[in-house]
Amino acid sequence: MHDDPVQLWAKCLDVIENMINRQIYETWFKQTRGLALSQDTFTVQVPNQFAADWLEEHHLSLIKKVLGREVGREVFVGFRVLETVSQKVEPLTLPLARPPPPSRPQIAASPPGGGGGELYPGYTFDNFVVGTCNQFAHAASLAVAESPGKTVFNPLVIYGGVGLGKTHLAQAIAHYSTAHGTVERIRFVSSEQFTIDFINSIQERKTKEFAQTYRHVDLLLVDDIQFFCHGQKDRTQEEFFYTFDALRQSGKQIVLTCDRPPKELTGLEERLVSRFKWGLLADIQPADYETRVAILQKKAEKDGLSIHPEVTAFIADQITSNIRDLEGAVLRLLAYASLFRCDITTEVARQVLKDTLKKELRDVSIEDIQRAVARHYSLPVEILTAKTRRKEVALARQVAMYLARHQTHESLKDIGAQFGGRDHTTVIHACQAVEELAMQDPEFRGVLDRLVKDL
Ligand code: ADP
Ligand code: MG
Repeated sequence: MHDDPVQLWAKCLDVIENMINRQIYETWFKQTRGLALSQDTFTVQVPNQFAADWLEEHHLSLIKKVLGREVGREVFVGFRVLETVSQKVEPLTLPLARPPPPSRPQIAASPPGGGGGELYPGYTFDNFVVGTCNQFAHAASLAVAESPGKTVFNPLVIYGGVGLGKTHLAQAIAHYSTAHGTVERIRFVSSEQFTIDFINSIQERKTKEFAQTYRHVDLLLVDDIQFFCHGQKDRTQEEFFYTFDALRQSGKQIVLTCDRPPKELTGLEERLVSRFKWGLLADIQPADYETRVAILQKKAEKDGLSIHPEVTAFIADQITSNIRDLEGAVLRLLAYASLFRCDITTEVARQVLKDTLKKELRDVSIEDIQRAVARHYSLPVEILTAKTRRKEVALARQVAMYLARHQTHESLKDIGAQFGGRDHTTVIHACQAVEELAMQDPEFRGVLDRLVKDL
């Protein structure tokens, strides 16, 4: 039997190598490894996100077929990015220096004058395209960067959906105020990093040092504070609260980002939420068409890719959800143009971005989601809207609510209503529970991704 995922995958690679073009094999498969085989999912280790996306989009059915034959049953395939592989060989000789997702907790070497999380050089005001969707948040951020702690925007809370530029703006503040000397000591961290630092400080009996590090800065930026609400983090929240007060009392600037309006953060202490109102809440809306075009042009320019205006217009028209997806599109076109040395026409763009576009264009209903989830968990679909609280039903229901929240435009209230008349707070709770589980459990993340794909 195949207990060892490494060997199992090596066997599959032997087969695949003989089935496809050598260059494609070398580019996309050679650096992969088998990572894990669970009940129904095989996880493949890949060197970077781009490879994961590419394999998933272009070679998934081949991989599934070969794996299925080796294992003797149908398996789902998940990809996992593990950096260690990428250090050996770069898969593409392309300027694919996309920064790793900033939300990942990182302990970087401290830049002069402070530090904490890593700052990405490209996340500056200069590289930020301003449109009606984000001009308010941009103006507030610039004001704060110019006079940290001296405006009424303290704290500045930037909130908005995924991939709309919150981290970019927060980092732009950090870059600007460092470059212009408006602050000396900066700390930029994700809320996860804050939590990790705090927990470590307790374990190592260094809570004094922790307080010292976090309270003696001129500018503290905490990214994605919604993670403070996950799980049992009462003590972390309390510590954050004290940090917050200490900084604010001594006139230091606090900048926070959040993926939703703070008042929707169930599980965040009320005294914290009410303190956010002392400063400024600035939202970022999804980008309008003109902003999307401008962002595409800027990204393409930066990556040295010339895209015909017609193609830019086509992409901006098709990809509307978030800016990260727009960037992904440019990256993909860049790879394509370089691998196949061809010009990017609208037709090429349509072909290369096929799957992304499909995702954007589809129109999923809550019933579709309920059916897909019920099928996945082998449950009758009616049970998702029924009263039962049986554990396996509860999880399936939460997953369905989460997908409804993220894959449709329905309001929390309407989603709750369509799940047997449940309250909107139940939906919020479900989303948090699912996000939390997804953070802890890669396999569960695979299930979610698959459900999304299948919708
Ligand atoms: P969030 O933190 O809101 O999830 P990010 O700040 O990580 O989103 O932004 C996602 C990507 O989109 C980043 O690479 C960022 O540089 C880019 N981006 C977002 N907004 C803009 C903008 N207005 N102009 C240029 N690039 C943007
Ligand atoms: Mg972010």
